[in-house]
Amino acid sequence: MSKHQITPGQQVKLDEIPTRGEEFCDDRRQAEKRFKQLRDEIIKWQQVLWSEGRQKLLIVLQATDAGGKDSTIRKVFMGVNPQGVKVVGFKAPSTLERSHDYLWRVHNEVPPAGMIGVFNRSHYEDVLVVRVENLVPEDVWSKRYQHINDFERLLTDTGTRILKFYLHISRDEQRERFQDRLDVPEKHYKFSLDDLEKRKKWDAYRAAFEEALTRCSTEWAPWHVIPADQKWYRNLAISEIIVKTLEDMNPQFPTIDFDPASVKIDE
Ligand code: AMP
Ligand code: MG
Repeated sequence: MSKHQITPGQQVKLDEIPTRGEEFCDDRRQAEKRFKQLRDEIIKWQQVLWSEGRQKLLIVLQATDAGGKDSTIRKVFMGVNPQGVKVVGFKAPSTLERSHDYLWRVHNEVPPAGMIGVFNRSHYEDVLVVRVENLVPEDVWSKRYQHINDFERLLTDTGTRILKFYLHISRDEQRERFQDRLDVPEKHYKFSLDDLEKRKKWDAYRAAFEEALTRCSTEWAPWHVIPADQKWYRNLAISEIIVKTLEDMNPQFPTIDFDPASVKIDE
């Protein structure tokens, strides 16, 4: 089990979990080298998973604004065959989506056999932003933890491995990243004034994250809290967990129903 995994039943207190990678690794250069090797492993495993066409891997990414979800996806899946990976971002639901139950749009996007699915935000928004911004009353959102565990159980029972990562950054790191987005013209598009409103509610978001991490880290769909102030450590930690999981899933190239040595191709 990864040192970053939340044990089922463990009460998560984010203040007690480091946001800095140096607490776990003191050699940045070695970490960057290892990360590249692990990325090659992901590339190889994805090809086998795809060829086998039976199992599915779902990776869920959640974080506060500027937590690094987009850059994690860009770095960790760089070089993977785009045909075998589907990234889905979840924004505020449309009118049609809101007319269904909140898991409807999510279920529709889970990976099919042979695929790796990556969720940039997810059904967890329905117990995070929805809870903190009072988009539905408490008696509605409070039932969702159980729904989510049951939904993830259904996916697991039907051949999906689920890995959930919370990118854990400090309040100072968020401020620096926001400032960078304001200082660098090419990064302006990443900034939104709404992000500052959410930052004012830091403690309420913290509490909502802690409850989701505590109540929804299950044996079948564990949460991992990844120290994410330093991108080099974040990339290493996440790719290590993904490779371990793929090794454990152990997909196989399909067996063939012909003898390649005896096949003759016309001149
Ligand atoms: P971004 O990831 O920066 O493009 O922003 C997407 C926005 O959609 C975030 O502010 C999310 O909180 C919001 N969002 C995602 N899912 C939901 C949801 N189920 N209900 C309300 N807002 C959501
Ligand atoms: Mg944003």
